[in-house]
Amino acid sequence: TTFSDLGLSAPILEALAREGYEHPTPIQAQAIAPVLAGRDLLGIAQTGTGKTAAFALPMIQRLAADKRPAPRRGCRALILSPTRELASQIEESFRAYGRGSKLTSTVVFGGVPVPRQERAVANGVDILVATPGRLLDLIDRRSLSLSGVEILVLDEADQMLDLGFIHALRRIVTLLPKQRQTLFFSATMPTTIASLADGYLSDPVKVSV
Ligand code: AMP
Repeated sequence: TTFSDLGLSAPILEALAREGYEHPTPIQAQAIAPVLAGRDLLGIAQTGTGKTAAFALPMIQRLAADKRPAPRRGCRALILSPTRELASQIEESFRAYGRGSKLTSTVVFGGVPVPRQERAVANGVDILVATPGRLLDLIDRRSLSLSGVEILVLDEADQMLDLGFIHALRRIVTLLPKQRQTLFFSATMPTTIASLADGYLSDPVKVSV
């Protein structure tokens, strides 16, 4: 399989060439086409498998194909991540793969002052990567609304639960439109995670690497 076989468009293929990616990894080979087609996805995969590109590439293509303004104080795609380091890496990946797409992205996480992050989302941003606690802070301050989210990604769901984010996650999901695309990733799938995923996904494609 090649990236082009998976349905990725020329600007994305150029970004991949710049990154030096020659072939899709197994999770990319399985996930990219269904995500491009708008399907929900349940992925069992660890960090290091190329999982970030597996969701970021088709998301960028979908968002760029249906270019509409990001809602003020809102975003079109929300990626939840357990730690600031991972959130920052994910946002950098979106930047690298989306160069040329004109899509905007930002990352918000705790432990740093809020005002800069409030300004970063004030005019709306296409892609927002966030840790759950700081995301809820911004919502409670009325600096951010999730009512315009088209695509939700829960990354490292098992780690988010281990870090005590279950209540935050549940609250965040209640604030999202019911009509959306949801991608759920976890390295492990114990029954608590499986039932959480079941509540958030609609007829998902399942991939495991
Ligand atoms: P991840 O699992 O998303 O954390 O990605 C792990 C590493 O693999 C990152 O450094 C990516 O830049 C790299 N990577 C992802 N996909 C590919 C690919 N198809 N070919 C080569 N490297 C890749």
